[in-house]
This record gives sequence, structure tokens and C-alpha cells, in this order.
Amino acid sequence: MEKTKLEEIKEAVRQARRIVFIGGAGVSTASGIPDFRSPQGIYNIESEYGVAYETMLSHSYFLSHPREFYDFYWKTMVHDSAKPNKAHRVLARFGQRKRIAIITQNIDGLHQAAGSDIVYEPHGSISHYHCQECGRTYSLSEIPHQGIPRCECGGVIKPNVVLYEEPLDEAVIDDCLTEIRYCDLLIIGGTSMRVYPVAAFPEYMLSGKKIMINAEPTPYDKECDYVIHEDIGMALEAILGVNDD
Ligand code: NAD
Repeated sequence: MEKTKLEEIKEAVRQARRIVFIGGAGVSTASGIPDFRSPQGIYNIESEYGVAYETMLSHSYFLSHPREFYDFYWKTMVHDSAKPNKAHRVLARFGQRKRIAIITQNIDGLHQAAGSDIVYEPHGSISHYHCQECGRTYSLSEIPHQGIPRCECGGVIKPNVVLYEEPLDEAVIDDCLTEIRYCDLLIIGGTSMRVYPVAAFPEYMLSGKKIMINAEPTPYDKECDYVIHEDIGMALEAILGVNDD
């Protein structure tokens, strides 16, 4: 990163009073969890099921093909051995000295595992489940990590992740928009900015600076004050001034 630009961004971080980070799948690729839309992403691999992966992640596919859905889900969406990487750790450490709200499109729970305490998950989480029949709730550790998990009542258990065709939780959206509206520094990173409504969240910011960090260009780059096309972990470490030893 160019030195003058880095100093300017570090100064903006120092002066900011309310910081929000909006992240996506690129935040977790260094933990071994593939993203969807980069050249190495899941959507660029031919589906072994004869159905596009995007279709498999829809609510109607979950209802009509729970076996195939869960086969794909356990193999691709749940990574039991994934650990927080530099990006998660740096954000968590920074949060110990200055308030930073994290809005993650990810469902992997790695920000909480790293120690961040203000985390919003508008797309849900692989950590939580519920029975579609009786509503009983389960945690990931309470269900087998293969096949279709079934409730004691016999109902099919569904992950509390937002599938295509499903609405987002309105209360979570409200919380995210309140954070964004009143923040004075918005850092966006590791996201293609192509998944709505989260891709529209930055529009709600009333005033302040926006920083984009992503390996590839995104449609939102032109709206940002600073654009960094680098690895998210390295870039966050540099701009937040946190040492990840
Ligand atoms: P996306 O796959 O559309 O885009 C990810 C972006 O991150 C790409 O533009 C890629 O170039 C960039 N990227 C990848 N590794 C990077 C790195 N190390 N440093 C900087 N940039 C990097 O992801 P999205 O925008 O988050 O949307 C996909 C949807 O699928 C979201 O809902 C997302 O949460 C979900 N998803 C979640 C996970 C997860 O929980 N870890 C994994 C895959 C997809």
C-alpha cells in the first residue's frame, strides 16, 4: 500500500468515534473456507449434483431435496476445523481498544471465536438450528454432522442460515442499519458487494469515510474514499495498527 495513503487511512481510524466493519466470505478464505464468487470460489466449480450450487442453497431446494442439500451443506458450508485468521484476530484485538461493530455476511462464527463482541449476522449462522415441525432449537454440537438431522419429534431440522428466497430477520437488519447510519468510518472488506440487501447497507451511512478492502474490484469501489485491492488480513493489520503476533 502506498505510504501516504496508509498514513491518511490510519489518521482516519484514529479520529473515528464509531467504526463499522462490513465483511463477507473473503474474510474467511484464509481459514480454509472457500468464498462463492472469486475465481477459486464455489460458484466457479462445476456442481457435482447436476444442479447449480446457487439453486441448492435456496429454500425450495432445501424443502424438496433435504438429502442433497445436507450432503452439500456438511461438505461445503460447515468447516469444523476452521480457526479465526489474521483478519478476525486483528478486528477482535482492535475492538478491545476502540468500539467496532462487525456486520458479517458470513455464517461461520469465526469473529466470535476470535473474541469480537459486537457481531451482527444478517445471513444467520451455522451454529444454530431449529426443528421445522415443533420449533425446538439445537446448537451445532447437538446434531450429527452428516445426513439430515432430525428432531426428537421426527421433524427435519433446518440451519438458522438465510437461504435464497428467505427474508432476512428484520430486527437484525434494523440493528445493522442503526450502526451504519451513525458510524463515522465504514470499512468494507472481503465481499464482492453483489449480495443484497447487505450490498446496499453502506448507502445508509449519513456522513464519514468509507474504505474498501477486497482482492478484486467491486461495483462499490467508486463510492469509497479509499480502495485497497489487497489481502484483507494484511490490510486490516496495517490500517488498524494492530500487531498480530
Ligand atoms: P463472495 O464470494 O461473493 O465474494 C468474496 C470476495 O472476497 C471476492 O470478491 C474475493 O475476491 C474476495 N476475497 C477472497 N479472499 C480474500 C482475501 N483473502 N482478501 C481480500 N479479499 C478476498 O462473498 P460475499 O460477498 O460474502 O457473498 C457471498 C454470500 O455467501 C454471503 O452471504 C456469504 O456470507 C456467504 N458465504 C459465507 C461463507 C462463510 O461463512 N465463510 C463462505 C462462502 C459464502
